[in-house]
Amino acid sequence: MSFDPGLKIGEVITHDRLLDIFKCGNMGGMRRSQKTNTLVIISDHTKGLYEDKWVGDVLHYTGMGKNGDQSLNFAQNRTLAESNENGVDVHLFEVFKEKEYVYMGQVKLVEKPYQEVQKGEDGVPRKVWIFPVKVIQESAAIAVDSSLIQTKYEEKEKQAKRLDNETLAKRAKESQSEKTSVRNAVTTIYERNAYVSEYAKRRANGICQLCEREAPFKNKDGEPYLETHHIEWLSRGGTDTLDNTVALCPNCHRKMHSLDLEEDRSKLKKVAIIV
Ligand SMILES: [Zn+2]
Ligand SMILES: [Zn+2]
Repeated sequence: MSFDPGLKIGEVITHDRLLDIFKCGNMGGMRRSQKTNTLVIISDHTKGLYEDKWVGDVLHYTGMGKNGDQSLNFAQNRTLAESNENGVDVHLFEVFKEKEYVYMGQVKLVEKPYQEVQKGEDGVPRKVWIFPVKVIQESAAIAVDSSLIQTKYEEKEKQAKRLDNETLAKRAKESQSEKTSVRNAVTTIYERNAYVSEYAKRRANGICQLCEREAPFKNKDGEPYLETHHIEWLSRGGTDTLDNTVALCPNCHRKMHSLDLEEDRSKLKKVAIIV
């Protein structure tokens, strides 16, 4: 009888709760529990230079050992390498935001572990073991909310901004990779009314309603290129109605999304009510 943690895939729990459920140790990315006969593996995207990568529904998980060549026989690397035969259930958590553990479900090794060169914490290149694991429950890997991935990226972006040029150049060179992590995620889509959008563009008549300059280029159909924008964002409860929709040039549209200045908002509100 295998252990049931009683967690839903995508459920976010605290570190204490994780320890309480799995009865495992509280250190490291791979934690063996004899009591529940499980191995908990944690893919923490907030830590380290290298991130574990998803390729479709397979996570390429980096093994244990912070410096020097990693060994396949070392501690839980071995448990994971043999997990298809040793009867130990492997459960995966991901961390996108400190202290929040997202349960991704039970996983199994789907390809042979392979080696890759990464720098250790001491900055010295060494060989690490990568374990390709896949969530057992069909289509479960899509359960992660895309906003979590966005949040993680923004956090890293902030960290990157704090680095001086030299450190940043070094880190960019060391962490770049030809492999891009590609994963499925759940997104919230605000379905917009195409008639409202088209009407708002025609109302603008080729002129950006914020900077009042001509659209910067014409689209393939020879129409002035403008983008529609909701003054009160749909994600913040705004409505998809003509009095909340304006047509902007791409620059002004970006400006509204990065600054959303009150003076710009009130200007747009005035033009949006003109039918
Ligand atoms: Zn503009
Ligand atoms: Zn917009």
